[in-house]
Amino acid sequence: MSRPWVPLEIRVTHVMKVEQIMKALSKVFLFSVLSVVNLYVSADDFSIGEITVPRGERVSGFIIVPEGMDEGSTIPVTVVHGANDGPVLALIAGIHGYEYPPITALQAMRTQVDPAALSGTIILVHIANMPAFLGRTIYYSPGDGKNLNRMFPGDPDGSISQRIAHILTTEVIDQANYLIDLHGGDGNEALRPYVYMPVTGNAVFDSKIEGLAVAFGLDHIVMDKGPQHASGLSLFTDQTALERGIPAITTETGKSGSNAPYWVGMAERGIWNVLRHLDMIDEDEVVNTGITWLSDYKVIKSPRSGIFRAVTKDGYSVAEDAVLGVLVDFFGDELLTIRAPFAGVVNYVISTPPVNEGEPVAMISKVVER
Ligand SMILES: [Zn+2]
Repeated sequence: MSRPWVPLEIRVTHVMKVEQIMKALSKVFLFSVLSVVNLYVSADDFSIGEITVPRGERVSGFIIVPEGMDEGSTIPVTVVHGANDGPVLALIAGIHGYEYPPITALQAMRTQVDPAALSGTIILVHIANMPAFLGRTIYYSPGDGKNLNRMFPGDPDGSISQRIAHILTTEVIDQANYLIDLHGGDGNEALRPYVYMPVTGNAVFDSKIEGLAVAFGLDHIVMDKGPQHASGLSLFTDQTALERGIPAITTETGKSGSNAPYWVGMAERGIWNVLRHLDMIDEDEVVNTGITWLSDYKVIKSPRSGIFRAVTKDGYSVAEDAVLGVLVDFFGDELLTIRAPFAGVVNYVISTPPVNEGEPVAMISKVVER
């Protein structure tokens, strides 16, 4: 059953412009809604943001990201709160707003998962990064120019991407027992599907992460020993969960911004099999055979801005020093050749012309035996 908590006035505004939504959501109004909702909270309820879900029900609504130094936003979420006890699984789509298949997959899951037959709770974050989704931007938010998947754990006093990250951390990740951050090839990325499987060095914890990664069902799994940074911040959605002891993976289904059913179905099948793996639904897990294990992934970045002409393709096996593509200037004259740093598999390659200095042109991983 769907019982949106959001009053009609706000539900109607979701077809309006973001600016209009934010105007409608004055803080005074929100506080009055909160006080009403609190009357109905019971021990068996599950709450997220201002949304409260009774056991055995499904509720959709918006988490509000209040206005701060810049414009606010909304995050559409559905909670399916199963009739039976079990883990809390967080599914986050739309961290990158141009990566559509997981967003569409979660819309299908919303009505297909039966709360009466579910053990545990699923938090479906339909579109984490609404500014980037409505703005149709790759990588960065049009609001503040930041990459949401480098902003965690976020900052309640920061710009919009930092505030979204903070709310996702405190409302979604902190409540989860397992997390899947669902991505796909961005609008400029020709991508061969794979899962990032974090490897922390803690054998018990890593076996739980591996269980998720294998159950998702893709045949390429990239072992990920953590972000290459020295800031001390978690930066990434999955790393934020890991730091809190929550097994997490990042999945990549989709290519070049396509929302084709082929990619949507791949994400859906992956999620359903994770539900089986976690015993949240009463079905046998489909065994994933024939996995190609990948390691030591490297994102090759462009040393300067220009136009990238890919030579390789997603999923290709390349030799060390193989030409991945050519960077040309804005008149078409060749600037330099970009080559593979080692032999491996091309996880993705940039498939549209523009590149900025420091942005990826390709990602390559080594094939390893396990
Ligand atoms: Zn992404």
